[in-house]
This record gives sequence, structure tokens and C-alpha cells, in this order.
Amino acid sequence: MLDRRTHPTPTPQSVPLVRIDGLNKWFGALQVLKDIDLTLRPGARVVVCGPSGSGKSTLIRCINGLEPFQKGTIELAGRRLGKSDRDAAIARRLTGMVFQSFNLFPHLTVLANCTLALRRVLSKSAREAEEIAMRHLTAVHIAEKARAYPAELSGGQQQRAAIARALCLDPRIMLFDEPTSALDPEMIKEVLDVMIALAKTGVTMVCVTHEMGFAREVADEIVFMDQGRIVEHASSSGFFSGAAHPRARLFLDTIL
Ligand code: ADP
Ligand code: MG
Repeated sequence: MLDRRTHPTPTPQSVPLVRIDGLNKWFGALQVLKDIDLTLRPGARVVVCGPSGSGKSTLIRCINGLEPFQKGTIELAGRRLGKSDRDAAIARRLTGMVFQSFNLFPHLTVLANCTLALRRVLSKSAREAEEIAMRHLTAVHIAEKARAYPAELSGGQQQRAAIARALCLDPRIMLFDEPTSALDPEMIKEVLDVMIALAKTGVTMVCVTHEMGFAREVADEIVFMDQGRIVEHASSSGFFSGAAHPRARLFLDTIL
């Protein structure tokens, strides 16, 4: 059973899944998001890139209700996020988040990491929660590690487990914040392959990443941020075929 208080009924394709208007955010005196407008349709696959400190993490943390903001509006699936705890709960219910540093609970097995929210948030039975978790762990090729603790896993395995954990709650939007940047090079591909497979399921994805090979293959839209602003929001083909803003171009040249 879905929790009806925090899980709205499916949204028609015509309603944007994410609609951000005039978003501004400050940390104290420092303005980190400036007049952000961003609308994402269901099924969009968006890569967000830009220099360190440009506000990428803050933007996706606002989308999933982890960060308060001072000005502007965010709507998820047609529901406007206010400042209440309940709104934050709605945002977290609609979004799955994968962090650079995995953020698995170290004292819980991989399986228990996955079943925790299923039991607490969705009140699933132990058996049902395990069935759902094992399905997602199998999909990210890590079912054999279900009974292991995070410290017993490689970084790539931990990140795949974190993706499975996020998928267990059946989010409408998957948010990734530099999911491969803490990984050794040989493990990056196994995580990107899981993300590519996920993209094919049609889930809406917003990925902060500098993996431009992934961006080319998977993204249909690229958002480039600089100093708290979206300076370019283009189709992936447009962005890579040289239509990029000069600042984006410069950035691409430094990382490619
Ligand atoms: P990015 O993810 O693009 O590297 P961030 O969103 O992490 O950028 O940070 C944007 C700006 O906000 C940076 O100047 C950063 O130092 C600042 N910042 C981020 N988090 C905090 C915080 N909790 N308190 C104060 N400043 C912060
Ligand atoms: Mg960041």
C-alpha cells in the first residue's frame, strides 16, 4: 500500500514533474542559487554540470527537500513545496537521492539498508520489504552481497547498493550527485552501466556528473551552471555539437 498522504496519484504527462520558478537561495550572506528556472517533463534525463561551487548540489538538495530556500517556488508533480516538514516528506517520497559518498548506514547489512525505509515509511511487512529489496539488488547485480555490511563492499558495490536502496521506494525522480566521483576508475563503469540501464526504464533522472561520455549516451538535456546560475539549458545534441555557451565550452575543454 502506498502512503496516500505523501504519494500523490500518477501525474499526467502534461504536468511537469519538476517545475522551478525564480529559485534563489542564500547561505548567510552568500547567494548560491540565482533566479533558477527549470521545468522537467516526466521521463526527462538531465545531466547537470558546471564548476565546483556553482550550486549543483544545492539545487538538487532543494528539489528533494533537504535544503530550505528563501525565494521562488518548486513544484513536484504539480504539488508546491512549502516549508513544512510534511512538504519535505513529500519531496523525499517523490525523489530518490544518490550521493557521492554512498551514505549507506554502516551498521546495517545491504539488505537492511534497503528494507529500512520500506518498513518505516511504507509499512511493508518484513517479507514484502525483502522481496522488493532483493529485486532491486538483483537489478544492480549485487544480490550476492545482500547480507554483507557496507564496509565489506568495494566503492562501486556500495554505490550500486545505494542506487538499489533509493529505487526501493519507487521514486518518480532519481537525483544523483556526482555518483562516481569518489570511485576508483575501474569502478566507475560498473556504476555508470547501472545508471544507463536505469535510464532505459524511463524513470526521470537528474544527474550531477562530469562523466561526459555518460551524458552523451544517456542525457536528453544538459544544464550547465556557473556561479549559482543556469547559464545554459540545451538539448544534449545541441550542447555537444558546439552550441554550448562559451563558459560551458571552456569548462568542457578543461574536463574532456
Ligand atoms: P557544487 O555542487 O556545484 O560544487 P554547492 O551547491 O555544493 O556547489 O555549493 C555552492 C556554494 O554554496 C559554494 O560556494 C559552497 O561553498 C556553498 N555552500 C554549500 N553548502 C553550504 C552550507 N551548508 N553552508 C554554507 N555554504 C555552503
Ligand atoms: Mg556538489
